[in-house]
Amino acid sequence: VLARLNSSGFLQTRGFIGGKWVDAYDGKTIQVNNPATGQVIADVACMGTKEANVAIASAYEAFQTWGKTTAAERSKLLKKWYDLIIANKEQLGELITLEQGKPLNEAIGEVSLGASYIEFYAEEAKRIYGDIVPANLPNRRLFLIKQPVGVVGAITPWNFPFAMIARKVGPALAAGCTVVIKPSELTPLCALAAAELSRRAGIPPGVVNVVMGIAPEIGDALLASTQVRKITFTGSTAVGKKLMAGAAGTVKKVSLELGGNAPCIIFDDADLEVAIKGTLGAKFRNTGQTCICANRILVQEGIYDKFARALSDAIKNFKVGGGFNEGVVLGPLINEAAVQKVDTLLQDAVSKGAEVLVGGKRHGLGFTFYEPTVISNVNKEMRISSEEVFGPVAPLLRFKTEEEAISIANDTDAGLAAYIFSTNAQRTWRVAEALECGIVGINEGLVSSEVTPHGGVKQSGLGREGSKYGMDEYLEIKYLCLGNL
Ligand code: ADP
Repeated sequence: VLARLNSSGFLQTRGFIGGKWVDAYDGKTIQVNNPATGQVIADVACMGTKEANVAIASAYEAFQTWGKTTAAERSKLLKKWYDLIIANKEQLGELITLEQGKPLNEAIGEVSLGASYIEFYAEEAKRIYGDIVPANLPNRRLFLIKQPVGVVGAITPWNFPFAMIARKVGPALAAGCTVVIKPSELTPLCALAAAELSRRAGIPPGVVNVVMGIAPEIGDALLASTQVRKITFTGSTAVGKKLMAGAAGTVKKVSLELGGNAPCIIFDDADLEVAIKGTLGAKFRNTGQTCICANRILVQEGIYDKFARALSDAIKNFKVGGGFNEGVVLGPLINEAAVQKVDTLLQDAVSKGAEVLVGGKRHGLGFTFYEPTVISNVNKEMRISSEEVFGPVAPLLRFKTEEEAISIANDTDAGLAAYIFSTNAQRTWRVAEALECGIVGINEGLVSSEVTPHGGVKQSGLGREGSKYGMDEYLEIKYLCLGNL
């Protein structure tokens, strides 16, 4: 696979600045590992402040022309980029599986999802309308126009190494912004392959730049620069807070997509089959490593035992393994630290009275594989009910009433996604409105799409990605007052 990716130009190892592939100035590299085998996939340039500043300068220069292109022109180039991504989705999927670990079919699904953001914003580029406002005085006319914010710093995580970039860069470019992408040091290869395809699509030099390596150095360079007008980040709440504070120095716009602690509420009146299918999707996708993964599964007492048994039965035979193996449902976790976190949270719960129904330990395959797990009798004293587990562990909490479920669900600083399973339409509406979060799946566990806004409330973040609202994050409104007519 590696040789093939290399010969087709998808295995880039250098940074991408001003349309050129560049090494770190001091020649430093860092390793990218395959989490399923521990093997080194590639040594990639390890960049820092200097390279970040050159990338910012190149993005700033490119913005002077890209920001003035017509929407149709940007749209056409984005569409070309989309076409190239789709034409190469198997190869990009292989790259995701290699560096991130998810099963190949899921990886190809991620490529399609990412591509859909680029296609959607290629279309939306042509609909960045302003307003004409009825004037407050007779001899005036008032106009509102929308303009690109400028250079954008996009800092992305490892769990969706392709889609998280596409979801930011699609609307940024459509709006007329240029970008400096800083992918996760764990998964830089997808970002570089995406940049290569943007080059082949004819997106001008400097519009898309990728620098990777020493995260705090690159992050600080983006924050300090007065030329960077916006930071868009997906990742941990801790780093998001740092970036938000850091952006204050130059008063940048910020969008943050941070950690979640999604409740998944199963009411007595749920359709069990729908609830199980939905919970499996919401919990185990990407081996539990998504910010909208169900983190706490609240089950009403009347259906609790039946649900616990059915969920345990459903995951018992999940095939765990390397993402290239046929039929694999759960890949490895991203690294050893991730396994230790999952295990620590599980041990903490067990020591406080939780019962393991299935799984509960590292998988026999070794490396960073973990058994699909269900634990029962979880309560709020256990760390697992307030911290993101980010792994294949489903903690079940018992509740009695709808009010109690809402109160447990909202008892968290996070507020990204939530899921409700019930066949009572009034109840689903009532609960959906009462939940403090940005996304609610109702009798549905898989909710991500380019046509809908993704984002959270409380400490889960600021701003929205996807949908027509996602474009606003990259635009400024300018008010023109034509007076003394
Ligand atoms: P995760 O838990 O998903 O790894 P992180 O927040 O650690 O989340 O990482 C998300 C992204 O933030 C990665 O690209 C990482 O390199 C980057 N990052 C981590 N620390 C900093 C920092 N101090 N400044 C800027 N970016 C950072």
